[in-house]
Amino acid sequence: MSDIHIRCPKCKWEPDGKPYWQCTCGNYWDTFSTAGRCPQCGKIWKDTQCISTAGGCAAWSPHLDWYDGLDEIIQRLKEEIEERWHQEVRI
Ligand SMILES: [Zn+2]
Ligand SMILES: [Zn+2]
Repeated sequence: MSDIHIRCPKCKWEPDGKPYWQCTCGNYWDTFSTAGRCPQCGKIWKDTQCISTAGGCAAWSPHLDWYDGLDEIIQRLKEEIEERWHQEVRI
């Protein structure tokens, strides 16, 4: 899926795969490796913060707005992610 770019919609900072995001449960992970879901407690983060310590702008944006690329590929990816979110909520 090389046509997809993940970057901050506000400043265009691109995550580098490191675990910058901390969940309320204390776990650190790369939120884009799990489509916004904490792997430890299962909490879904529908908003994602830009990481200022890595060069970003620290603003919060909807997780789905971070995906950028060809429209039809992005649309399909977003539908897949939303589908996963709905499945997780139904526990
Ligand atoms: Zn968590
Ligand atoms: Zn940013």
